[in-house]
Amino acid sequence: MTELLELYQELGISPAVHAYGEATLEKLKERFDAIDKIAEYNQAKVIKAMQRNRVSAACFAATTGYGYDDVGRDTLERVYADVFHTEAALVRPQITCGTHALTVALAANLLPGDELLSPVGAPYDTLQEVIGIRESPCSLKEYGVSYRQVNLLPDGTFDYEKIRQAINEKTKVVTIQRSKGYDTRPTFSVGQIGELIAFVKSVKPDVICMVDNCYGEFVETIEPSDVGADMIVGSLIKNPGGGLAPIGGYICGTEACVTRCAFRLSAPGLGQEVGANLGIMPAFYQGLFLAPTVVAGAEKGAVFAANLYEPLGYHCVPNAAESRHDIIQAVELGSEEAMVAFCAGIQAAAPVDSFAAPMPWDMPGYDSKVIMAAGAFVQGSSIELSADGPIRAPYAVYFQGGLTWYHAKLGILMSLQKLCDAGIVKL
Ligand SMILES: *Cc1c(COP(=O)(O)O)cnc(C)c1O
Repeated sequence: MTELLELYQELGISPAVHAYGEATLEKLKERFDAIDKIAEYNQAKVIKAMQRNRVSAACFAATTGYGYDDVGRDTLERVYADVFHTEAALVRPQITCGTHALTVALAANLLPGDELLSPVGAPYDTLQEVIGIRESPCSLKEYGVSYRQVNLLPDGTFDYEKIRQAINEKTKVVTIQRSKGYDTRPTFSVGQIGELIAFVKSVKPDVICMVDNCYGEFVETIEPSDVGADMIVGSLIKNPGGGLAPIGGYICGTEACVTRCAFRLSAPGLGQEVGANLGIMPAFYQGLFLAPTVVAGAEKGAVFAANLYEPLGYHCVPNAAESRHDIIQAVELGSEEAMVAFCAGIQAAAPVDSFAAPMPWDMPGYDSKVIMAAGAFVQGSSIELSADGPIRAPYAVYFQGGLTWYHAKLGILMSLQKLCDAGIVKL
C-alpha cells in the first residue's frame, strides 16, 4: 500500500490529504454497501429489460437516411420503456441534450392557451428561456403558453395550499424537477414526487405530470414513472448513458404523450418512424447496461465529498449523513477563489485535459458567469467527473459524476489538495 501512497503523491496528493481522506472513508462502509445494493437491483432491472426485448447483435447495426424499420433504435426504445415501466419511450441521438428533450416534451404537450405549472420553484436555468421566464424567441410564452410557479416552503417542502390555488382550468402540464440543479434546495426523493403527483391529480386528474429526471436515474430502485409521472425526461450524457453515449436524450411516458413528442421532434405523421441511428446504438445499449454501476460510483463520490468537506466547516447539500436522490453534491465554498481552486483540483485529476485551468465564463443559457471543470471523454458529459457552478452567492460548487469510484475519489482529494495549496483550507 505504500506504493499506492507514492503513486498518489506523484499525482499530486500530499500524505496529509490522503490520510484525511482515508480516515473519512473508514466511516462510510455501510453507506457504500447500501449504494451497491441499489446498483445490483438496477443492474438486474436493466438486464431483464434487455433480455425481454431480445437484444441481439442485429440491434447494433448502423442505419442512415430516413431510418425506417431501424431495429436497433426501436428495440432500444422498448428497453427504455421496460426499464422505466412506461408505455412508450423516445430515445434518440437527434435529441441533442437534456434541455432539448425537456423542450420537446413541453412544446409537444402544451398548446396556445394552455398553462404550465412548476410547483417546485424556479426550474433549471436553461429552461427559463424555454418557458419564457426570461424572454427568448420561440419560447413557450411566445407561442401563447402561460406559466405559473409555486415556490417551495422555507423548509424545502411543497406548498400544497398554494399549489391547489395555482391549478386552474388552463393548467395542462405540471413540471417537477427532481434534482436541485444549480440551487441549494434539497433534491426530491421519488417517494416525495409521488406524493406531489397524487396531490396534483387529486385536484385535476387529467393534468400531465412531467418530471425532469436529470441526474436522478438509478439512484433509487424506483423512478418517478413508477409513482404516477406521465413523462420522465433526461439526458444521455448524464446517468442513463453510462458515460458511453456521446449524445442524446430520452422521454419515457404514456403512449399519448410520447407520440406527441415524436411528432414534435421529427414531424407530424412521421414521429418515431424516422431517425437513423448513425451507428450509435452500441454506445447507447452498453451505456445503459453500465449505468447502474456508474451511477453507484458517482454517488459514492458525492457521499465521500460531503463527508470530507462538512467537517472542515463547509455547508454541504445534501449533508454528510442525508440519504441521496441524485448524484449531485453541492459544497458552498464561500468565495470565487475557493471555487476556482476546487475546480482546478477536479481538472488536474482528469484523464483528459488535466493540463487545462478552468476559468469563469459567460455560458449561453445561464444568467451569471459559470465555472466548469471537466476532463471528459465526452465533451460536457456530467456523468463523468465534473464540477461546475455559477459565480454568485453562496459560491456553491456542484460536483458530480465519475465513471469509476476511484477516479471520483482522486478528483475529490485533488480538490481538497488545491484548497490546501491555496491556503484556504488547513488540515
Ligand atoms: C442538466 C440538467 C438539465 C439540462 O440538461 P442539458 O443536457 O445540460 O441541456 C435540465 N435539468 C436538470 C435538473 C439538469 O440537471
